[in-house]
Amino acid sequence: MAITAEQTLAFIRDFGDVIATNKDFLTQLDSDIGDGDHGINMNRGMRAVLAKLDSTNPPDISAIYRTTAMTLISTVGGASGPLYGTLFLQLGTATQGKAEISAKEWSEALTAAVHAVEARGKATLEDKTMIDALEPAITALSEAVADGADLEAALARAESSAEQGMKATIPLVARRGRASYLGERSAGHQDPGATSSWLLMGAAHRAFGNGTS
Ligand code: ADP
Ligand code: MG
Repeated sequence: MAITAEQTLAFIRDFGDVIATNKDFLTQLDSDIGDGDHGINMNRGMRAVLAKLDSTNPPDISAIYRTTAMTLISTVGGASGPLYGTLFLQLGTATQGKAEISAKEWSEALTAAVHAVEARGKATLEDKTMIDALEPAITALSEAVADGADLEAALARAESSAEQGMKATIPLVARRGRASYLGERSAGHQDPGATSSWLLMGAAHRAFGNGTS
């Protein structure tokens, strides 16, 4: 079973939908340790992405990711815009010229994309950022693929590892981004970007797995 362009569109649409549904929650989390705009930023960006996808109808998987990236970069002012933009841009590069994506190719593309976000934002594991959800997700995904798991099982493991990574941000002291200005006071709160990254892994699971989308 391989991932199609249609499923790629479903993935982006699902992410836009869960961002909209969780907008106030993400903003609440960002009010605790940031400036209270993460849900607003991401929702503004994803509304613009969905409108752009509808109006331009990108021809293939790579173009869907590149359109998503460019729209996020141009519409989201906060740190998260360029970082998610980098993630989707690298997904576009990694999927260039491919009509369908195998489980192994998805794992490799997402791994390259997360590494690009790390290079861009200079965050590593336990800095209390989106990397704390994304890095466990790519580790789980590549281990599952190496174990010979099917795509559905690999995506499920990636989602639950992202969830664990997100929850593990609660006790951490932030070392990157706006929350790092709070120092020790950032401990005891879940990171908003790790939360939106967990939602992203859920969207991939639903769109690319055997499930609903
Ligand atoms: P801003 O902090 O500019 O207001 P947002 O509120 O939209 O932007 O996003 C905040 C989230 O961005 C944080 O919760 C964190 O997960 C993520 N983030 C911030 N800086 C970095 C970084 N250098 N690397 C990775 N993620 C980061
Ligand atoms: Mg913010």
